[in-house]
Amino acid sequence: MKNLVELIFPSRCIACSQLGISICSSCRKNWHPHIYHRELKVLGNRYPVISAIEYSPIASRVLLRSKEANQGAADQLLISAIAYSLRYFTKKYGTGDLVAIPSRKSATRKRGRDFMQEITKSVATLEKLNTLEILQHQRAVQDQSRLNSHQRTSNIAGALSTSIDFPSSAGQGNIGPLIIVDDLVTTGATLVEAIRALRTAGFMVIGAVTGAVANPYDKGVDFRKGT
Ligand SMILES: [Zn+2]
Repeated sequence: MKNLVELIFPSRCIACSQLGISICSSCRKNWHPHIYHRELKVLGNRYPVISAIEYSPIASRVLLRSKEANQGAADQLLISAIAYSLRYFTKKYGTGDLVAIPSRKSATRKRGRDFMQEITKSVATLEKLNTLEILQHQRAVQDQSRLNSHQRTSNIAGALSTSIDFPSSAGQGNIGPLIIVDDLVTTGATLVEAIRALRTAGFMVIGAVTGAVANPYDKGVDFRKGT
């Protein structure tokens, strides 16, 4: 049965489209988890950001296939990369509840799902943690991918808010420290904004985990400075 399925729907490498397994051995070399440790400074505190995959053209294609094409095999690669970051994070900094960076409403409509929310739920199930869907966009923002570091910061600043305050009447006793989850960290502007919004609403944030990290130095951006 499996062979018949493969005959009708042959699998291809999600990164280079070569026929075969979901990610071929040469692309796998570019999707190999390590630990990348960054730090963001927000409202006077420092927050660790742990990532597993260095951003590359291959990583970019895997993330796009997951995000825009809803491809299960790409989802699985991203889920395991985030879980890898998370296991390191919780060992070093303690555990918490997971909060996904929400997609823009237009993107969620187009994709038919809130991409990071869904990926984060799968990671939480895998790692036996809770997710809280409390971050939301409070105004429209542009797609960040074509913006430079400075534009990203002004695009996203003040754009996120929480759907509840802490302590809230709804289950305040069950909310632990929060770990923010995103697919990719580039300048850190989105994570900084998420930390700001959660802290402003009274939540305790201990850091963030992402699947991939773009080389912070290749465009002259010193990620560690944050904002
Ligand atoms: Zn390949």
